[in-house]
Amino acid sequence: MEIYDITIIGAGPVGMFAAFYAGMRQAKTNIIDSLPQLGGQLTTLYPEKYIYDIPGYPAIKAVDLVNNLKKQLTTFNHTFHLNEEVLSLSREDEIIEITTTKGIHYSKAVILTLGSGSFQPRKLNLEHADLYENHGLDYFVNDLMKYAGKKVAIAGGGDSAIDWALMLEPIASEVYLIHRREAFRAHEHSVNQLKPSSVNVLTPYLIERLSGSNGELSDIRLKKAKTDETIDLMVDSLIVNYGFTSNLEHLSSWGLESSRNAITVHSDMSTSIPGVYAAGDICSYEGKVKLIATGFGEAPTAVNNALHFINPKERTQPGHSTSLYDKTFGPK
Ligand SMILES: Cc1cc2nc3c(=O)[nH]c(=O)nc-3n(C[C@H](O)[C@H](O)[C@H](O)COP(=O)(O)OP(=O)(O)OC[C@H]3O[C@@H](n4cnc5c(N)ncnc54)[C@H](O)[C@@H]3O)c2cc1C
Repeated sequence: MEIYDITIIGAGPVGMFAAFYAGMRQAKTNIIDSLPQLGGQLTTLYPEKYIYDIPGYPAIKAVDLVNNLKKQLTTFNHTFHLNEEVLSLSREDEIIEITTTKGIHYSKAVILTLGSGSFQPRKLNLEHADLYENHGLDYFVNDLMKYAGKKVAIAGGGDSAIDWALMLEPIASEVYLIHRREAFRAHEHSVNQLKPSSVNVLTPYLIERLSGSNGELSDIRLKKAKTDETIDLMVDSLIVNYGFTSNLEHLSSWGLESSRNAITVHSDMSTSIPGVYAAGDICSYEGKVKLIATGFGEAPTAVNNALHFINPKERTQPGHSTSLYDKTFGPK
């Protein structure tokens, strides 16, 4: 049975920084997120938006901040369990048991950086759509080269859908972009880039039916909005980009003191369950401000106090980064 010192639930910016800091403190760390990608709200809701209130950065795009956090985090060999939603927590014999959609994890302490809840892609509401998931139907693009030489349809009207269409244009054999409205919601600049491209834009079309052979998606039927006109399109892959939903439905059963979907914490970021700490948007205390900068401050407080909880000999004021860095990487 693998027992981690600290398990961080939620790999948004605050969870990522908490994980980095846990590495600085040489904690055996596990990171869990319901998404297959890191970055929480920054990755799912506003990757291309600039953020102006991160200390030390006059302006930084959300996607670049996430990439910097990733770079910082990969300093350590932490364990990642992505694409895995936490369903419940319970504490027994000083060990916290974390039940997820894929199994059970064990940890001496937990830091909850759940933000506004577990993100899931908004899925295609069609019969049999779940059967084709990962068999021709994708909600994430993890590897562009998977689509090399393939006929790919992309559904959605926002920036992500258009970005994927433009990125896949030189790689795939054919790219179709399907949107239920005539106009796209994406930035004008991206929409303009579509015009001279070879991307086949199909608007306003709705996906009406999926069909396949040998369990793999092979055809999609499109219906023109407000008409009976249909098109049957043979494809190798359909990428659906309908945005994300977030939910905190499981939190209420975890036995934590909370109010209005936020976990009540003390000034050391501890919650009402011993060994369970919280930081970032999910935590609440008098005067709490929900900002990335605030969460970045709460993360080291949570980590240092969690380690002190596990081992009371550990100081809650461990020294500055230079001495921690020397301790982690310097001669032993
Ligand atoms: C449009 C927009 C613009 C913004 N602009 C700014 C800005 O300019 N400056 C600023 O400071 N803030 C801004 N914010 C707010 C900022 O994004 C949040 O404060 C920040 O994302 C909080 O980080 P977090 O790590 O606490 O949570 P999140 O970013 O929400 O990450 C939480 C992660 O936890 C995961 N998770 C939750 N529950 C579970 C579970 N049960 N199992 C597994 N995983 C789970 C989620 O999938 C998610 O990945 C903006 C927000 C929005 C929506």
